Amino acid sequence: NHYTKRDILKMVEEEDVGFIRLQFTDIFGMMKNVAITTSQLKKALDNQIMFDGSSIEGFARIEDSDMYLYPDLDTFAIFPWRPQQGKVARLICDVYKPDGTVFESDPRYILKKVLSEAKAMGYDFNVGPECEFFLFHTDEDGRPTTLSHESATYFDLGPLDLGENARRDMVLTLEDMGFVIEASHHEVAPAQHEIDFQYGEALKTADNIMTFKLVVKTIAKRHGLHATFMPKPKYGVSGSGMHINMSLARDGINAFSDGEDERGLSREAYYFIGGIMRHMKAISFITNPIVNSYKRLVPGYEAPVYIAWSAKNRTPLLRIPAARGLGARVELRSPDPSANPYLALAVCLAAGLDGIRNEIAPPKSIDCNIFEMTDEQRKSAQIEALPASLREAAAEFAKDEYIQAVLGEDLSRKYIQAKEKEYAQYRTQVTDWEIGRYLHRM
Ligand code: GLU
Ligand code: MG
Ligand code: MG
Repeated sequence: NHYTKRDILKMVEEEDVGFIRLQFTDIFGMMKNVAITTSQLKKALDNQIMFDGSSIEGFARIEDSDMYLYPDLDTFAIFPWRPQQGKVARLICDVYKPDGTVFESDPRYILKKVLSEAKAMGYDFNVGPECEFFLFHTDEDGRPTTLSHESATYFDLGPLDLGENARRDMVLTLEDMGFVIEASHHEVAPAQHEIDFQYGEALKTADNIMTFKLVVKTIAKRHGLHATFMPKPKYGVSGSGMHINMSLARDGINAFSDGEDERGLSREAYYFIGGIMRHMKAISFITNPIVNSYKRLVPGYEAPVYIAWSAKNRTPLLRIPAARGLGARVELRSPDPSANPYLALAVCLAAGLDGIRNEIAPPKSIDCNIFEMTDEQRKSAQIEALPASLREAAAEFAKDEYIQAVLGEDLSRKYIQAKEKEYAQYRTQVTDWEIGRYLHRM
């Protein structure tokens, strides 16, 4: 949808909207918002709404902490779950400095920056995410737990599952907000679900991922459940991934498809894979950004551990799904839903473009089960592993100047500092596992 200021004022009037939330995303992927009443709407549409950037983690600047929100008019949407009188709507915003220039560490800007690099090369970037999440019970005080009464598993049908009703409600709400839902199903672990929405242009998809999480959490709450996008909330069962299906288009035609090729892929597609693989360890710092992310990337739960690609096998990091032609795409299976979607898509695209620019050919595809290979076999096939911890990922990111440049110096520094602090805190914890293992024996 393309809206003008006039359109927005008219919709707000006609739909009886009482509040407008001006949203943006901090560097760690948390949605922030400033709520205004309609009396302030004209001012907001003129980019005059200010907030204190120093109170947003990662945005802090010592000099001018005043920042301005520039609403992206096309993102106007009404929250269907709010009251029908005095409705609540939202606008997703870009962040600007008082001098009228863009704030370079705004994640949405960073994605736009890489998208315009792609555009200069003739490409549009299309992305379809597959978001997984758990629905857990809350305790008497309303606090989330990791308990559920569910025993359903992959593709099972209700009424086994209380989450089933909640998920149906989520799908309907998302459709109300203009999402095209392609599939929704129970995932492998009890209480784990997946809802897939239609792929689209990357900026819109990143906005959609933020909206998706808000909707899923909000509707879960209405059903007395807690939805979590934590990558590995439970030991011993699958974690939640956010696979991202990527393709480039040139003049509206899928540039990854080539009917002549044995796998139906173009040279661009192979170079894109080559670029992603070259930068994968640094990318992990952004696509798997929390301590817990690395507890998902272990053998045995359909999550990737090794840096490899295949058109046949499901286990590798990069998979070429069976669809060719229009649907030709590369699926990256390591990202998890705790990632900031703007930054995650920005680094993936940048890596792919590096592959295309420098014609980085990918290594041989690995079409057998990598987990069944011995260490020796993996070594001789030159298969490397993803970072095993947030700390390793930080170190890899700190080594990759190309990926750091995507985020910019300021953001890269803040991100590394914050994550090193997070890891240091984690490292000093004494876990239940340690108590169970050592207390009685030592
Ligand atoms: N839950 C798995 C993961 O952690 C993915 C399962 C699937 O293939 O959809 O990535
Ligand atoms: Mg899945
Ligand atoms: Mg998938």
